[in-house]
Amino acid sequence: MEKMMIGASGVTTSRVGLGTWAIGGWMWGGADEAQSIATIRAAIERGVTLIDTAPVYGFGVAEEVVGKALAEGGLRDKVQIATKVGLSWQDGKPFRDSSPARIRQEIEASLRRLRTEVIDLYQVHWPDAGTAMSATADAMEELRHEGKIRAIGVSNFSPAQIAAFSAVADLDAVQPPYNLFEREIEADVLPRAETAGVTVLAYGALCRGLLAGRITARTVFTGDDLRNQDPKFQGERFRQYLSAAEALKGLARERFGKSLPALAVRWILDQGPTIALWGARRPAQIDAVGEVAGWRIDDAGKAEIDAILKRFIEAPVSPEFMAPPVRRAASR
Ligand code: NAP
Repeated sequence: MEKMMIGASGVTTSRVGLGTWAIGGWMWGGADEAQSIATIRAAIERGVTLIDTAPVYGFGVAEEVVGKALAEGGLRDKVQIATKVGLSWQDGKPFRDSSPARIRQEIEASLRRLRTEVIDLYQVHWPDAGTAMSATADAMEELRHEGKIRAIGVSNFSPAQIAAFSAVADLDAVQPPYNLFEREIEADVLPRAETAGVTVLAYGALCRGLLAGRITARTVFTGDDLRNQDPKFQGERFRQYLSAAEALKGLARERFGKSLPALAVRWILDQGPTIALWGARRPAQIDAVGEVAGWRIDDAGKAEIDAILKRFIEAPVSPEFMAPPVRRAASR
């Protein structure tokens, strides 16, 4: 497993991280706790040491399950925990709140749910226009000074928002969407991060399963599964993404002797100072992580990938549907 330091924080971690959004169940049609715990432990056995979670994933559930999974066998000391701050919720609906008061409240709740005394990487989940950026950044630096967190990150921030935050706090990481089908950060966030020595935690590494190679046009997503609203999973566009995934799967197998998820994750790692967040909720889903290390996709391979994307996907769409609403007037 390749390793990398997160920014200048001194926190070193595996370049593949386990994403636990689906483990929270919410927006993924539910989750099974025993399977979730087995998945976290299987990832650690396969060399993954970074676990990415958030309070909003199942409104506390994912963090609790991570805490429970790490509580035995000295596992907490073998991993780095990344969690987030800055979303609140009411009646099962999240909204943004990165006020210092909310940050103070959330850090204590996260430490308790995760059963730990320190969070290795603490990330502002979404920018909050209702709070001065400097107040949020100051509050994060205070937590680091107090020893409650080791590294600071921001997620879903524009380049201008990253610059405003970095003017006040020492930023170690950014967490944008990034995968073979969602490449918007190549225009700005990725090159700027590289120049600034900031690590990029790429979320949605498998594009919500499209790049895992198992989804077909007949796959049914049940309950509150977000893929029922995801524009990539609808109509003609869904067929195009599935065709592209099928062609990429062939390329992965024939040219590199790898599976599609291994190709998708390897590609992210070969794009810059990146860590790929691989979402999984069953142990077998993380099996292919062993295929990721020890090889690279050369320029010719990258060009073949780009040609496939161009051939099949007529109107690429970004994952903007995920953005939570701004703060409610009543809660300001
Ligand atoms: P992802 O990694 O793109 O896809 C994960 C899903 O793909 C799994 O839940 C599973 O879905 C399917 N899958 C994974 N491996 C598979 C395999 N080997 N075979 C078949 N199916 C497989 O999605 P993600 O969870 O959205 O993103 C990864 C992580 O990034 C999240 O968990 C979270 O930690 C982070 N994230 C952060 C933000 C943010 O705003 N900061 C937003 C999104 C995600 P099924 O179980 O349904 O088959």
